[in-house]
Amino acid sequence: MTEIVKIDPLNPDQSTIKYAAKFIIDGKLVAFPTETVYGLGADTFNSKAIRKIFEVKGRPIDNPLIVHVSDISQLNRVAYDVPEKAIKLIERFWPGPLTIIFKRRNEVPPEVSAYLPTVAVRMPAHPIALALIRESKTPIAAPSANVSSRPSPTTAEHVIKDLYGKIDLIIDGGETLYGVESTILNIQLDTPKLLRPGAIPLEEIENVIGRVDVSEAALAEKPYQLVAEAPGMKYRHYAPKAPMFLVEGELDRIVKKIVELAREDMLKGLKVGVLATKETYELYPESFNIIVLGSRSEPYTIAHNLFKSLRLMDELNVDKIYAEGLPMKGILFAVQNRLRKASGHNIIRV
Ligand code: AMP
Ligand code: MG
Repeated sequence: MTEIVKIDPLNPDQSTIKYAAKFIIDGKLVAFPTETVYGLGADTFNSKAIRKIFEVKGRPIDNPLIVHVSDISQLNRVAYDVPEKAIKLIERFWPGPLTIIFKRRNEVPPEVSAYLPTVAVRMPAHPIALALIRESKTPIAAPSANVSSRPSPTTAEHVIKDLYGKIDLIIDGGETLYGVESTILNIQLDTPKLLRPGAIPLEEIENVIGRVDVSEAALAEKPYQLVAEAPGMKYRHYAPKAPMFLVEGELDRIVKKIVELAREDMLKGLKVGVLATKETYELYPESFNIIVLGSRSEPYTIAHNLFKSLRLMDELNVDKIYAEGLPMKGILFAVQNRLRKASGHNIIRV
C-alpha cells in the first residue's frame, strides 16, 4: 500500500509534514522532493528500513546511500573528525546540493555506506525535505527514488511509475529545481576529489577550497571498474529503454553525424529520437522525434529537463536515441556525466 500526499513546497503544511515524519519514525519508506531529484528515505539508524530501500529499488548493496541532515548536530551524530575544508564548504553551500564524504560513526548501520568506513552527507535546501528531517528528529538516508538503472525522478509521477505499491508514502511537492543529483566530494584526501559532478559546479567549489582532483568515475568516459573510491559508479545508470548514443565533438559536426546515422536507422524502419538543443533542433528532419532540452546558453534549463526527457523517450517508444554532447563546464559537467552513463558509454566522437 502506497499513500500519496500533496504538500505545497513554498508553504509546507506542518500537519502533513508531521504525518509523513511519523512514517520515517516508524521505520517506513517515504519518497520526498529535494532540490535535486526525489529521494527515497528512511531513518538512517534503522538498518531494517535501510535494507528495504535496496530491496525495493533493486539497488546493488555495494552502492551506498546519502545521509540527509537538517542541522549540524545531526551531522555530528553520523560523522566525526570534520576537516577544516569541509567546514568552509558547509558554510558556503549548505543547505544545498553538495554531498561531502566524512568518517562514519559506528552508530550508523554499515548498510547505509555499503560497509565503507565513510559516510556521505548533505543538507538539502528543499523546504519539504528539511522540514521532514527536522520533524523526524533523525537523519534520513536516501538514494534517488527510482528503480535502479532508470532515469532519476524529478516529479512525483516518476516516483509513482517506478515505486507505487512498493513503498509506504510519496510526498508530491511538484517538480524538482535542479533536475540532476548533488555534487559528491571526497575531502578525506590531501587534495579533495570530485566523485560525481552535480548541481553545484566544480568551479564554485574550487573557488572556496582551491584545487580539486576529478575522479575517473566523474568523467564517466568508460565503464568504471574499480569499486574502492566511487562505489556504485560501475553500474549502468539513468538509462532510457532504447539504446542511446552520445555524439561528442564540435556542434556542427555533431548535428551532421546524428542526421547521417539517424537517416540510416530510419531507412531500416527504426523510430529514432534525438535529444537536441534550442540552437540545433531546426537542423534535423521533422521525421525524427526531437526533444529539446533547452538553450545551450541556459545550462540550468538543460539540467532541469534532462531526466524527464529521457523518460519521455520511453513514452515515445523510440528504437534508438541520439544525444548531442555538451561542454563539460558548470552544471553541464553533471549533465554530460549522466548522458555518458545513460548511453552505457556508447560515445561517438566526431
Ligand atoms: P544516489 O543518491 O541514488 O545518486 O546515490 C548516492 C550516491 O552517493 C551513490 O551512487 C554513491 O556513489 C555515493 N556515495 C554514497 N556514500 C558514499 C561514500 N561513503 N563514498 C563514496 N561515495 C558515496
Ligand atoms: Mg540514484
